[in-house]
Amino acid sequence: MTDRPLDFIRSGITSDLAADKNDGRVVTRFPPEPNGYLHIGHAKSICLNFGIAEEFPGAVCHLRFDDTNPSTEDPEYVESIQRDIRWLGFDWHDKLFFASDYFELLYRHAVHLIEAGLAYVDGLSEDEIRDYRGTVTEPGRPSPDRDRPIAENLDLFARMRAGEFADGTYTLRAKIDMAAANMKMRDPLLYRIRHHHHYRTGSEWCIYPMYDFAHCLSDEQEGITHSLCTLEFENNRDIYDWVLDHSRTRYRPVQIEFARLFMNYTVLSKRKLLQLVQDGHVSGWDDPRMPTLSGYRRRGYTASAIRAFCDRIGVAKSNSVVDVAQLEHAIRDDLNPTAPRVMAVLDPLKVVITNFPEGEVDELDAPSFPHDVAAEGSRPVPFSRQLFIERADFAEDPPKGFHRLAPGREVRLRYAYLVRCDEVIKDPDSGEVIELRCSYDPASRGGTAPDGRKVRGTIHWVSAPHSLPAEIRVYDRLFKVEQPGSGGVDFKQHLNPDSLEIVSAARIEPSLATAAAGDRFQFERHGYFYLEPESSRPGAPVFNRIVPLRDSWAKAKGQAPAKAKSRPKKPFPAPAAAASEKTWTAAEQAAITAYREQHGLATASAEVLVAEPSAARLFADALAVANFPQPVANWVINEALAAVKESDSSLDGRDVGEIVAMLEKGTITGRAAKQVFAAVVAGKGRPAEIVAREGLAQIDDREALAEVVAEILAGRPAEVEAFRGGKQALFGFFVGQVMQATKGAANPGLVRELLTESLSRP
Ligand code: ATP
Ligand code: MG
Repeated sequence: MTDRPLDFIRSGITSDLAADKNDGRVVTRFPPEPNGYLHIGHAKSICLNFGIAEEFPGAVCHLRFDDTNPSTEDPEYVESIQRDIRWLGFDWHDKLFFASDYFELLYRHAVHLIEAGLAYVDGLSEDEIRDYRGTVTEPGRPSPDRDRPIAENLDLFARMRAGEFADGTYTLRAKIDMAAANMKMRDPLLYRIRHHHHYRTGSEWCIYPMYDFAHCLSDEQEGITHSLCTLEFENNRDIYDWVLDHSRTRYRPVQIEFARLFMNYTVLSKRKLLQLVQDGHVSGWDDPRMPTLSGYRRRGYTASAIRAFCDRIGVAKSNSVVDVAQLEHAIRDDLNPTAPRVMAVLDPLKVVITNFPEGEVDELDAPSFPHDVAAEGSRPVPFSRQLFIERADFAEDPPKGFHRLAPGREVRLRYAYLVRCDEVIKDPDSGEVIELRCSYDPASRGGTAPDGRKVRGTIHWVSAPHSLPAEIRVYDRLFKVEQPGSGGVDFKQHLNPDSLEIVSAARIEPSLATAAAGDRFQFERHGYFYLEPESSRPGAPVFNRIVPLRDSWAKAKGQAPAKAKSRPKKPFPAPAAAASEKTWTAAEQAAITAYREQHGLATASAEVLVAEPSAARLFADALAVANFPQPVANWVINEALAAVKESDSSLDGRDVGEIVAMLEKGTITGRAAKQVFAAVVAGKGRPAEIVAREGLAQIDDREALAEVVAEILAGRPAEVEAFRGGKQALFGFFVGQVMQATKGAANPGLVRELLTESLSRP
């Protein structure tokens, strides 16, 4: 953990503990569905859930496989998920659970709902159900089966379980409200028939519970206190609460939503990742270009870099796109102090030092961490008459600004000598440069001439007879555009054809002969590399490029995808060459840095603000009202900018700020924020007016709510007495009544708190 202020989830937990909620227990869970490998988005959720368990004394995090959909699940995934969580450095101890272990329990809960007249067996097909559901503006229509008698429902449900009916014949639905404003509440499905083998329960079941039914009850069963999920489940929270309110439960877990991780140049959907695997675009789920944890591991990423990344991006309530460059920064930061420097030549060009005696060797001592004077460690580097240098470090006709080797010019060989190019030898047929004849200055050992003459360029090299062959796999981003699949094309059309370059004739310095599989190095001027255990053989090492030293994509960003495509296809640009040709002026660059440093914005966001003057204005105006720079930037970029462009309307940045402020302070929910924003764009007034007019505010007023609570309890003396007599399950009923009385606007946390207080008073 950094010393940043706590995010909203951790500060919520802190106040729950202060209020002694849940008897001081904190139990979270990570609930993957075993239908694919874990990706970097899951890492965010793992670091949050397991991180909380590490940080709060006595807190625990469960690993629960959410295996309620038999057709896509597989034990291979169960194993890989456990391996990946352990690799990240987290431990569930003995808290390993499977939703499929609760099938019998869930069935009993379903029967209970039917008995209470709160669920019915529906004969509509899933398509018809969708038809009947209505739209945002029109209420749904009741299914003809909605009022089926309880006894008949019980009979049909038992026969569904017994396997009497084919898939799709019937479903079990909750009987809630076909006119609910939240469409998810229009009689959601609880069970469906699937005659499918389940990897754990085999053919024991042919009806399977839906997520909305299974998840909340599994949480309750395990005693989860804080059920953290991503924002797209915000509307499902009403079902979560409804099911628990109306089931025989002992207490109430609370669902809290946070922003899902989205990352540019990356797809984070298991369905799409599976397509890449199945269609052979990658070698498997652990292909080093995949955004899966197993892919990153195989590429050479460290678990600590991924954890640092998750920590750095933080946890917020509004969705945003994280720049993949941030992940790349994290791995560089992690490896910079730990990865020893070595020299490797990826595209060798032979150099003969004509004045160095044949057969002689000068053994130089090169520090492993030259950038850190305090660090210890060095390795011998032999210098001899025949060397290899990088082909790109020589130019026969050097362009302006080229400071490396050229005919008649001098360059510094790292850790060794100054050498001058005297002669260029070419293949007589092809004209290709095949050898350089150079002379060295024997007095310049270590890299400086005694006369102090200025030599600007320094290049890396290896001694030809001492160097070792290696295969080097130069990995680059898997997608060539920021948003794969944008513009209505299949996301696979945006695959980067240059995402893997296999270099089979590289030469590496001899000290690497003792490197162990799994070691990481910095190949000077190239990047960080990993000796991959899976592919390396004795005498035939294979190195993966983990990440280059610099972000060669930065300049392609903020431009149309077409430009990114036309990036010169130069497999190994020497670093000095890579930094040429800037898209941003110095002033723009300074502005980008300022946004990043002053407001903590991601590079991608900062670049949009600099590229789009209208965005910068909106941002400044919004920030003046709402001091939440990151959410403000996200709203400006993702919502406001698009709205301004689409509708040609003028939008006041202060309105955007007001909405963000209400959202961040919990005055309104994310759903309401979107609604308010749409109304503002449609010219229906200022945000505060709209919230008031449409009753969108969460009621956070303790006194006002206390009155409602008192009224509800006063009107239901029998239930209150039953509750005090031990019928704890009625708690949910009271919560539901208060929520209903306030048309869903009450802050549910506060309602529970007030109810707990009132009911415990005799
Ligand atoms: P996908 O869309 O990739 O299939 P999912 O949400 O269906 O993901 P699950 O296995 O159900 O995958 O996810 C397990 C947990 O990880 C859930 O709590 C989910 O919210 C969380 N999670 C999944 N993707 C992300 C993400 N991109 N960012 C943050 N959390 C995520
Ligand atoms: Mg899922």
